[in-house]
Amino acid sequence: MKHLYLILVASSFTFIAWAQSPNTDKSLFRQLGSELPTPNTYRTASGAPGESYWQQRADYDIKVEVDDNTQRLIGKETITYTNNSPHVLSYVWVQLDQNVVDPESDTYKTKTNTMSERTSLTQLNAMIDNSFDGGFKLEYVRDVMGKDLKYTVNKTMMRVDLPTPLAAKGGKVVLNISWAYNINDRQNPALSADSRGGYEFFPEDGNYLYTLAQWYPRMAVYDDYNGWQHKQFLGQGEFTLPFGNFTVAITVPADHIVASTGVLQNGKEVLTAEQLKRFEASKSAVKPVVIVTQAEATEKEKTKATTKKTWIYKAENVRDFAFGTSRKYIWDAVGVKIDGSTQPLVMAMSYYPKEANPLYGQYSTEAVAHTLRVYSKHTIPYPYPVAISVEASNGMEYPMICFNYGRPEKDGTYSDRIKYGMLSVIFHEVGHNFFPMIVNSDERQWTWMDEGLNSFCQFLAEQEWQRDYPSGSGPAKSIVDYMKMDKSVQNPIMTNSESIIRFGDNAYGKPATALNILRETVMGRELFDFSFREYAKRWAFKHPTPSDLFRTMEDASGVDLDWFWRGWFFTTDHVDISLDNVTPFRMDTKNPDIEKPLAGKAVKEELEKDITYQNNKKDLPTTAVERNKDLEDFYNNYDPNAIVPSDKKAYDQYMTGLGEKEKAFLAKGLHFYQLDFSNKGGVLMPLIIQFNFEDGTKEVKRIPAEIFKLNDQKVSKVFALAKPVTSVELDPQEETADTDRENNFFPRKAVPSRFELFKQSGGGRWSGGSGMNPMQKAKAETKN
Ligand SMILES: [Zn+2]
Repeated sequence: MKHLYLILVASSFTFIAWAQSPNTDKSLFRQLGSELPTPNTYRTASGAPGESYWQQRADYDIKVEVDDNTQRLIGKETITYTNNSPHVLSYVWVQLDQNVVDPESDTYKTKTNTMSERTSLTQLNAMIDNSFDGGFKLEYVRDVMGKDLKYTVNKTMMRVDLPTPLAAKGGKVVLNISWAYNINDRQNPALSADSRGGYEFFPEDGNYLYTLAQWYPRMAVYDDYNGWQHKQFLGQGEFTLPFGNFTVAITVPADHIVASTGVLQNGKEVLTAEQLKRFEASKSAVKPVVIVTQAEATEKEKTKATTKKTWIYKAENVRDFAFGTSRKYIWDAVGVKIDGSTQPLVMAMSYYPKEANPLYGQYSTEAVAHTLRVYSKHTIPYPYPVAISVEASNGMEYPMICFNYGRPEKDGTYSDRIKYGMLSVIFHEVGHNFFPMIVNSDERQWTWMDEGLNSFCQFLAEQEWQRDYPSGSGPAKSIVDYMKMDKSVQNPIMTNSESIIRFGDNAYGKPATALNILRETVMGRELFDFSFREYAKRWAFKHPTPSDLFRTMEDASGVDLDWFWRGWFFTTDHVDISLDNVTPFRMDTKNPDIEKPLAGKAVKEELEKDITYQNNKKDLPTTAVERNKDLEDFYNNYDPNAIVPSDKKAYDQYMTGLGEKEKAFLAKGLHFYQLDFSNKGGVLMPLIIQFNFEDGTKEVKRIPAEIFKLNDQKVSKVFALAKPVTSVELDPQEETADTDRENNFFPRKAVPSRFELFKQSGGGRWSGGSGMNPMQKAKAETKN
């Protein structure tokens, strides 16, 4: 029976092993194979663009008017589209992003919601209100001769059929489009998150402040890995756009100030002599110069011009164009010198209503300039002539211009939360100039490629702004709460933008933290910074994919990071490495002076502990030998600890047999410790081990993650140390995002929960909770 049972167990085991593991490598160190696209002549295995790399181009000439009486935008554009691909195209796709707020939009239809017993009217409206008459009203789509072209609108996308196919490798087609749309209320919760732009109405003075975004029909991207990227715009997955040059004539009420992508061409026509003089002075100033003062802006709020002015802007090599306009704008500027930039001077500027002061006046332009300097150091020198921060009710980014929140109370006071939230959102949105405006990734597919990389650089900018800056993401421990959540609310970072649960944690916080861990813990600053800069250099003004980033970081550093990308970007595993055991070992010196007393003491201690020995001492008044002295001999009175001549002789012989190296090693008197680790979370990390010594000193040893190369679940390692150890701690600076700190200590030590930590520190700023700063929370909520 027994024999048969054993055979059964063995055979079923073999069967299971065969079924589950057909001899494939399951090691966490296996290279990323099928996860990445095969390298080709467009995108090489090194992560650089290949010899056949191509990209499309779209140049725009636009005339647009903002009607301040009806909150309506009316535009006409000429798109010159250049087909650099090796393919003939019989149609082209144009993005109609405003249709996201069309009453029939899929965005309304596909929003999920639930009722609760307490639902506010605002919440309810955000769920069910689709009454706003938004969306593009197209008047025509025509060719270069003014002849109507056949077009088909598919929600937020439009296919324009070409009468003659567009030639490959340099063929050009001209589209003339006329349109209008109703501008939405930027603060309407049912619309603001999806539309990004809109107006804000100020009932106190009856004026509007406009931020116009996705306001013109924009060419979709056609590329080597998507074909046409015409996945619908549903609200979360942002934009994918080709580069081109823009000339835009913006007509607004004559008393408005326009803030825009690009360089103003007709300052003499739209600015006063005084404003022009101040603007010129700002170029060489050391701190921001106010061009339109708060007093001047406040005075203008009282009347409304009936005449119009047209502001003409030109922008080169940009993927998009946005602007703001209002009579409420205060405007300040300063010229910034960026090392290595193609621009002799970059104008850092801010536009804001009086409601944003005193914060914006003091900080905004300085924060713009700071962002440009820090990002330029870590990526490429800022290549555009202008960088603008516009105050608006939520944050969003465009080339050379961004809209940021951060408004004090009505009495001008503000909390530290508002102040740091405002600074962070400016660093973040200005930083988007680099990712994705210059390093032009596909936002519709991958949110993390711009938001994650940008949040990482934002962290660098924050920490270079002030030493104790309360950063929301970046530090490893800021992502721990997210990564230990139930896996059902997590996706891998490599998830399409529309399907991401917990947007802020997944696409902002986690990739930013992963990059910071790479920089500080895995690669080191020198290798990381060189490689990250190389990625920015290679893909500036091009369209990178995740594999181009993954490959470049390895190519430029010589560090195999496949295990890191796999754990952090392709799974929802977390980091939890346990220090399971520490076993001390002592070396036998063979020196009788040391070893004999120790051995004797040990034997005696063992005997004293023995239960029979102890009980007999009580129960037996005498033993046989005690009763009869005749039973004694030499060994009954021999001291086993006494050192006899033969011991000395044996030791001398032993020492003579040793070489100089062995003797020197012995003389060190080292203490040996075997440490056993297990990988409980799934994501591997280097082992950072702190030994705390008896004398109160400590030493940190850093072991690369490759220690797990033969066994990614359990490893042991022996350390030889000069001093006796009292305790060992894993990851003492909390740099690996380890989710369970209790098993990081040997002997075990209770770790206060985060709630207790919060109480102990007397109520921190906003580093606790979800690990996001208010800006990221707002972003996550408004999905910008
Ligand atoms: Zn962002």
